[in-house]
Amino acid sequence: MSTLQERYKSVNERIKKACSDAGRSPDEITLVAVSKTKPDEDVISLLREGYVHFGENRARALEDRMESVQNTSAVWHFIGNLQTNKIKYMVHRVNWIQSIHKKKALKEVEKRASEINREIQVLIQVNISEEDQKSGCDPEQLSGMLKYAQDLKYTKVRGLMGMATFTDDSEVVRPEFKLLKSLRDEHLHLNGGSVDLKHLSMGMTNDLEVAIQEGSTMVRVGTAIFGERNY
Ligand SMILES: *Cc1c(COP(=O)(O)O)cnc(C)c1O
Repeated sequence: MSTLQERYKSVNERIKKACSDAGRSPDEITLVAVSKTKPDEDVISLLREGYVHFGENRARALEDRMESVQNTSAVWHFIGNLQTNKIKYMVHRVNWIQSIHKKKALKEVEKRASEINREIQVLIQVNISEEDQKSGCDPEQLSGMLKYAQDLKYTKVRGLMGMATFTDDSEVVRPEFKLLKSLRDEHLHLNGGSVDLKHLSMGMTNDLEVAIQEGSTMVRVGTAIFGERNY
């Protein structure tokens, strides 16, 4: 059995190798450790080693995690299906909300963040897979959301996030990642004000190599770091 630290290191090795194969620098990639359902001790132990980016996909789990870990160097990412009425519970501590999929959510983040005078980094989640249970906005909605976001003050749009079809077939996921990147490129002219489309959050345990080949700047990895989940 490998330890948590060993698994984390081996994910970093996978990222390095993928970057070198793709002619990219590993400095371009942020690894977000997706700790959902795993004990706080695992998160704390990685923090002790100096790893700081953590992701949760349920609002309540993120709140509990931020509360019980209480670490000021941790960078917290919300990556799950976002209900607008849960935003107020996370704005005090969350650093990134990766799963904004409608204007109403942008508006709520702005309202809550302005009340506490705190900037929140967000990504717009776009639906890139054919599986209809995956959330995210339709590509046609992107430009409207970005134009709206330009004038926000506390809500900083830093890029796009996408979830590929759940499969280890790279030829299924590759066109989905290509789609996300081309959507980003097509909307770069909307950079300005609070919009700066620098990041592409794509790639998980099964498909991080393909995602890096296709331009990912953030990979969200759970299983390969923390082990299988029991659900
Ligand atoms: C669980 C989850 C991940 C990580 O998935 P693994 O396959 O365990 O690496 C990434 N992104 C989101 C949105 C998730 O919910």
